[in-house]
Amino acid sequence: MHTAADGPDPGAPLTASFSLSIAVEGVPLAPLTYTSPDALHRGDWVVVPLGRAERLGLVVDAAAQPRSDAKPIIAASPMAPLIEADLALLEFAARYTHHSVGQAIAAAVSPVLREPERHRERRTPKGRQQPAWVIAAAEADAEAVSSTDSTPDAEGDRLSSALPAPTADQQRALQEIRHHWPQPVHLWGITGSGKTRVYQALLAEILAQNPQAQVLVLVPEIGLTPQLARRLAEAFPYEPMAVLHSGLPEVARARATLAAMQGRARIVLGTRLATLTPMPHLAAIVMDEEHDASYKQQEGLKYHARDLALWRARQRGVPLLMGSATPSLEAWALIDEGRLARVDLHQRATGQPLPEIRLIDMRSAPAQQGVATAALAQLDATLAAGQQALVFLNRRGWAPVLGCEACGWFDGCGQCSVGRVLHRGASGQWRCACHHCGAESAPPRRCPDCGATDLQPMGRGLQQVETDLAARWPHIRSIRLDRDAMKSSKALAQALDDIRDGRVQLVFATQMVAKGHDFPGLQTVLVLNADTQLANPEFRAPEQLFSLLLQVAGRAGRHGGSAIAPTVTIQTRQPEHPIFQTLLQATPKAHERLLRSMLDERRMAGLPPHRHIAAVRISHANEARAQQMADDLCAILRATIESRGMAGLQVLQPMRRHPERVAGKLRLQILLESDRRAPLHEALAWLGRAELWAEWTEGRRMEISMEVDPLTLT
Ligand SMILES: [Zn+2]
Ligand SMILES: [Zn+2]
Repeated sequence: MHTAADGPDPGAPLTASFSLSIAVEGVPLAPLTYTSPDALHRGDWVVVPLGRAERLGLVVDAAAQPRSDAKPIIAASPMAPLIEADLALLEFAARYTHHSVGQAIAAAVSPVLREPERHRERRTPKGRQQPAWVIAAAEADAEAVSSTDSTPDAEGDRLSSALPAPTADQQRALQEIRHHWPQPVHLWGITGSGKTRVYQALLAEILAQNPQAQVLVLVPEIGLTPQLARRLAEAFPYEPMAVLHSGLPEVARARATLAAMQGRARIVLGTRLATLTPMPHLAAIVMDEEHDASYKQQEGLKYHARDLALWRARQRGVPLLMGSATPSLEAWALIDEGRLARVDLHQRATGQPLPEIRLIDMRSAPAQQGVATAALAQLDATLAAGQQALVFLNRRGWAPVLGCEACGWFDGCGQCSVGRVLHRGASGQWRCACHHCGAESAPPRRCPDCGATDLQPMGRGLQQVETDLAARWPHIRSIRLDRDAMKSSKALAQALDDIRDGRVQLVFATQMVAKGHDFPGLQTVLVLNADTQLANPEFRAPEQLFSLLLQVAGRAGRHGGSAIAPTVTIQTRQPEHPIFQTLLQATPKAHERLLRSMLDERRMAGLPPHRHIAAVRISHANEARAQQMADDLCAILRATIESRGMAGLQVLQPMRRHPERVAGKLRLQILLESDRRAPLHEALAWLGRAELWAEWTEGRRMEISMEVDPLTLT
């Protein structure tokens, strides 16, 4: 904001006002025009009126066409302006996902920082003037950072020398990565190969080169932040680090965002939302567990962090390092196109062998309560030797559904076309819960169809497995890790600590632990019922199953030093399936062959990453109206494509999603497919015009949304 000293030309008339184009936070519209008495610039933050409310806004054009109905802004914010590159990132994210820049701001800036009153000076009850919160919070943090008593003596001492030297294999990988940079690199490191050590070494070089440099480190899940934060703090004990994810208290998240935006945090560690966090001195991006589906945002601005990270790194001309033990098929395709360099790390850092993989054919193996006798013996031996074991079942709750054996009825959600999952509460009470709409109630006492009173749980969930097995070893401390048992990130962090420090011996888990955790004492992994995923018709299901099993298997025997040889046992009724046979071979070459054959299948089937897909989704409580809208939209789209000559773009017939009803609404979708991205985006941009949107949705309770590169097609 201009003060009297550097204000506009004193000769200018006093009534002069500047016309600004402003993206208003959260508003799904093109930027709006406002006026300002002072000259502001692209990237400046402001507080603007919107209806009767106030909102945070971002100046995107300082020379907008004046409009007679334009309102004046309320105030200019003292928050540091966005640099051009960060503003361009928000504009790219909005364009790519077909949302507004205002919606991209909502995704990039934490909720507290979007509150308009935080950007204005306040008066205390005694009438004293206080600075805006965004300034006060930043000043408090700056003091905290500089008052550390263990300030390093010289710049060279800022990086820790206490870390183990990289292994020969890691050294070679480092050399190769440096050789490729600034081209983006994918580091394919098997589980336990020490990818984090490679990240530390490269980040150390970048932070040492430039005292202002900031680095962005991404992880797919909140649960992975404590472990990586600790590893980064070990390597860079004096570097200010900001941790960013949606599980933080709001004010803490706002402070971390401010520290990143003002360049005070040199290391920004976060989940996918940090991909959009403004960082004026961004010098490198690391994206760990690149293959993980959690990098795709499923609500609001539906971006994929991988796409944004690639764009951001290229636009800034900074290195990007992705890492994974199971590169995604998207990454393979980028490697084949030459857009991503590939570096392999195929030895475990500790020199330990990969665990032995065993398949148990459940069609013939003797079993008790769904667990093969041979697997029970393996667990027995592990626990008797004082080692840890992990029992993995990717299905939470007690049983998938409650059913009637007499007539075949099963308990479904009244609002969604799915069965309700049977859960057992902490004090033993039963409840049936819908995992789609969240509705739950006590289980029915009798079958509503035939009146039978002996309703039975069908199938087994992790809760039941835990109860059965924990009873078998009553003196062993066990823990269950799933979304029901780990409701807060604090509880999860505590549980992970307990496992790492050996305070629990037997771990029951869903995929929550499959990702990147390092448990030194874990020797035995048992995977129950991997076959359900084989029956999943989604096109990504085989890739995800393979990656999940490899990740889970990779938790075993990472550090050696045990009398028990690390073992991974998988129970299946389809042991001949290529996924299981490849796991048995346990070599990176075999893994690559399988992934490449999956990639070929996708190519032949015309699926991503070879073909690009977008979904237009419609939902409405009234089935006939939803169907009518879907048919109309499909016809409009097809006619538009014809008249505009958008070659190579296909619009598929509207179809019902799975489950077709959620929370009482019928869900339909129209898929658009193309070999090239341009016509796909052109069609969506045309469809997304605000005036059409308003006309279609207004007063009809119709929900319409668009998604580019959806994770699922059903
Ligand atoms: Zn019945
Ligand atoms: Zn439901």
